[in-house]
Amino acid sequence: MITENVKALLEELPDNVELEAAAKTKTAEEIEEAINAGVKIIGENYIKDLKNVYDSVKSKARWHFIGTLKTQKHDILRKKYLKIFDMIETVDSLDIALEIDKKCSAMGKIMPILIEINSAKEPQKSGVMPEDARKLAINLSKLKNIKIMGLMTMGPRFGNPEDARQYFRLTKDIFEEIKSLNIPNVEMKYLSMGMTNSYKVAIQEGANIVRIGTKIFGERACNLNK
Ligand SMILES: *Cc1c(COP(=O)(O)O)cnc(C)c1O
Repeated sequence: MITENVKALLEELPDNVELEAAAKTKTAEEIEEAINAGVKIIGENYIKDLKNVYDSVKSKARWHFIGTLKTQKHDILRKKYLKIFDMIETVDSLDIALEIDKKCSAMGKIMPILIEINSAKEPQKSGVMPEDARKLAINLSKLKNIKIMGLMTMGPRFGNPEDARQYFRLTKDIFEEIKSLNIPNVEMKYLSMGMTNSYKVAIQEGANIVRIGTKIFGERACNLNK
């Protein structure tokens, strides 16, 4: 089913939109199948999931971190994981960015990042508040070993996808605003928004990365992950 699902999605997505497979809880075989069907970006939320699969996935893909980054003690801030990830989509504070910058500096790596926006201002969700995004972008742009490449947002996961439209639109507005500032060391290229339920609306509102789990892999057995 995974191969058919990926092919159908790739057929459906406009040429400028990249398909990221949100792979939490999935096995190496499932991820491998998605890559072989044409997925180029794998998104992982948890280091424990990454550890279970990374060494066994032989096909090439770009690995993005899409999980919550609450503390500077997060596992992803360890060198061996920073080495693996090609992008961190969920940076939402100067503290976390400083830690990524410091570790990457020691490794000689420049880490591409997206700033996560808490576009619906949901207290339980991560992301910088919309009104603070511009200032955070300016502050992060000064760090030499991270590079801002755009924005990411979750928005509400369930319900009528039309209800998410305003949050995607707000995130796109922030994206354009930061882009118009022409901040040195900031390349506003990616807007990562939209999941299984909402990707069509997200694309209409300007997403060029959509993060799809269920529609590629099927329902997750235990839905503990939002
Ligand atoms: C799980 C997850 C997705 C994909 O969700 P689906 O509804 O299964 O498509 C996208 N982004 C993030 C950050 C996720 O955790």
